Amino acid sequence: MTRYIFVVGGVMSGIGKGIATASIASLLENRGYNVTAVKIDPYINVDAGTMNPIEHGEVFVTEDGLESDQDLGNYERFLNKNIYRTNYMTTGLVYKTVIEAERALKYDGKCVEVVPHIPEEVIRRIKLAAKKSKADFVLVEIGGTVGEYQNILYLEAARMMKIENPNAVIFVLVSYLPVPGNLGEMKTKPTQYAVRTLNSAGLQPDIIIARSSASLDEPRKKKLSIFCNIPAENIVSAPDVKSIYEVPINFEREQLTLRILKKFGLQAKRNGHTPWSKLIQKIARAKKEVKIGIVGKYFDTGKFTLSDSYISVIEAIKHASWAEGAIPKIDWLNAKDFETKPNAVKSLSGYDGIIVPGGFGSRGVEGKIKAIKYAREHKIPYFGLCYGMQLATVEFARDVAGMKNANSTEINPKTPYPIIDILPEQIKNLSEKNLGGSMRLGAYKCRLVKNTIALKAYGKPLISERHRHRYEVNNKLRDKLEKSGLIFSGLNPEKNLVEIIELKNHPFFVGVQFHPELKSRPFDPHPLFLEFIKAALRKK
Ligand code: GLN
Repeated sequence: MTRYIFVVGGVMSGIGKGIATASIASLLENRGYNVTAVKIDPYINVDAGTMNPIEHGEVFVTEDGLESDQDLGNYERFLNKNIYRTNYMTTGLVYKTVIEAERALKYDGKCVEVVPHIPEEVIRRIKLAAKKSKADFVLVEIGGTVGEYQNILYLEAARMMKIENPNAVIFVLVSYLPVPGNLGEMKTKPTQYAVRTLNSAGLQPDIIIARSSASLDEPRKKKLSIFCNIPAENIVSAPDVKSIYEVPINFEREQLTLRILKKFGLQAKRNGHTPWSKLIQKIARAKKEVKIGIVGKYFDTGKFTLSDSYISVIEAIKHASWAEGAIPKIDWLNAKDFETKPNAVKSLSGYDGIIVPGGFGSRGVEGKIKAIKYAREHKIPYFGLCYGMQLATVEFARDVAGMKNANSTEINPKTPYPIIDILPEQIKNLSEKNLGGSMRLGAYKCRLVKNTIALKAYGKPLISERHRHRYEVNNKLRDKLEKSGLIFSGLNPEKNLVEIIELKNHPFFVGVQFHPELKSRPFDPHPLFLEFIKAALRKK
């Protein structure tokens, strides 16, 4: 029998519901069960691929090519296994499936209604994910917070599953307890309201995870227990932590795993030693710093800086740095600044390594190219991810291979040197405006060339990495670049597409057409990030 743990949010978003879900999943797996996690996003977008990262954070691409939510990245990193497209749904996707089924007469002439047909489709998808991964436990994280209009049909689906099999479903509420500066006291009322709201949907939380800046004390635990109708032992304190990888350790300390198992009448198959403690100790021992600049554009929202847009990149930098006994200091460098302030680029000399991550469109492109030129000329380790690889090729074409005004046709369709050009199979998609889920997506193979940084890093000639792009190095112009010294160190064996570029006579100058950050795991740092960090530490 598969057990389902619904994780819902209270009070506000962004308090670590995804990390809580991933941590619980990891802890149950650590106790000897097979666990998977499903993310539900209540918006109309069919997937996360069409959203600006500033709106929604990073688009995480799965092995099987789904453009999904960053929480799937958290699940993969915490569970140390791949999560596939069955484990993700949005309201748009659910409705699309139901409407397509209706159009195909699959409802046998019935009136198709929001309830029960939409929740039924949600349940079908959850159970499919369970079946595909043969899971003992499925964590189902419902995005947003209870009380949001968009959430209701998912809570209804959860309620229907609970009715169907009460012993197989529990609810975890991850809620926030503010400590207002002027009061200096932790307040429980917003969480009480969140529980009431959940109650009005016919649901009672079995466990409350109390997120706050500080630990929950006894008086407040009592209060929550009485007002939220839940035994105090099932209220778990979850104060802010330095590293997200401490969360499972804290949960284990609060005996959360055992409490969850008890709810289902189950026992642990293994003891509670988690691998996370070792990692945290390793981080604590790391003393040297490595200073990395990320030159991008998806981080400003008004007065605030968003790091969610590049979350996998940040995680990958951390994993590799920790493995090398270093603590990364990561700075956000706005590409636009390098365009408007000509001298700003000199500030890059203060970095041990520079990354230009993925991106789309022309905003900030010339600034990124300036940063890449600086890194190349001043021998600062450079790692280009997808757009960062394409723009490094453009910079090399312009400044080394003498191709004046070389560009990507994404930016300038009339460039005399279309160094980066649209993939042939993408031309139709663009002209027909078929833009959702239609890029070159997911895992593709790449063959590595002898005597290259790439081959040395991976230590094997055939690799596979995840992609998300429409443009590609133009094979017609490759010769000229190669003659000028650009090395194509990784190629797709089927289509002969350039997957990796690199330079000689530079401590580390590597660009990849794929997104290696998506496959980096805390216990298994990505080989190219490792080489990059090693080079950065050497520069230091
Ligand atoms: N905009 C580029 C393309 O579509 C790069 C995409 C990316 O960085 N993910 O090919």
